[in-house]
Amino acid sequence: MSLTGFIAMAVAGGLGMYFGIGGIFELRYYRHRDRAAEWKLQPRRWPSAKARRHEILLGAGNTVVASVASGWFAHHVASGGTSTIYWTLGAHGVAFSVVTTLGYFVVTDGLLYGAHRMFHHRVLFRSIHRVHHRWTSPTAFTAAAMHPLEFAVYQSIMIAPLFVLPIHVVGLVAVLVYQNTIAFLDHSGVNLGSLLPWQPPPRFHDDHHVHFHVNYGQTLGLWDRLFGTWRRVGRVYGEHVFGGRGAPLAPADRGQATRYVDYRRPIAPVPSAGLDTAP
Ligand SMILES: [Zn+2]
Ligand SMILES: [Zn+2]
Repeated sequence: MSLTGFIAMAVAGGLGMYFGIGGIFELRYYRHRDRAAEWKLQPRRWPSAKARRHEILLGAGNTVVASVASGWFAHHVASGGTSTIYWTLGAHGVAFSVVTTLGYFVVTDGLLYGAHRMFHHRVLFRSIHRVHHRWTSPTAFTAAAMHPLEFAVYQSIMIAPLFVLPIHVVGLVAVLVYQNTIAFLDHSGVNLGSLLPWQPPPRFHDDHHVHFHVNYGQTLGLWDRLFGTWRRVGRVYGEHVFGGRGAPLAPADRGQATRYVDYRRPIAPVPSAGLDTAP
């Protein structure tokens, strides 16, 4: 297949996933605003129509640019260009393929955590990452709505190991589909609970959009636990509280360790009366 064919397929696949998953959430949840208390993590807060248009335009634009790059890379690999992707199990065996797939997942997820945390540095946050945090009540479409430079950094993180770490093509595709699906779920704003033991539920990243500088992880909860950036009970967080660990409620509380928020506990539906639409 020609380069144009690869790029066309990648763009169709990228936009298909973006509007396919986003569309499911739109039909299944976002249209049912009257029943928001039953499904929405923040039933009293909605993005304006303008903010929704903006997230879809920016998200779709980023998806197209990233898909062009992915299509080019896939063509490069398929034409025998340099990469460590392999196509037959006979090349390295099943056990090796499983281990390197898991390794690719863990390493890239850790790097995504690090890059996201870096974007929360005061200067980078104000100049770049603030774009993604415009949406304090995200939807699935927010997943790709960010500064294009930030999107390019995350995509580079997923591609760079493919020149170093041998990985079977099926394992690679599985990790990419899994990571992208989780990004949509994390931004959905829907109270879906936790599906897998190593992965916090959507409320974890929804809280990131509410409280800003905390809960940086993409899929594994491990990194925020390891580096102390998981949200804690009794700490103050907000747009101007940088550092990832919040601030004490009172000066006397300084240095006191408080427990982590338990995202596995189901949250009770909010009474539907008196819904408002801020911001
Ligand atoms: Zn962020
Ligand atoms: Zn986000």
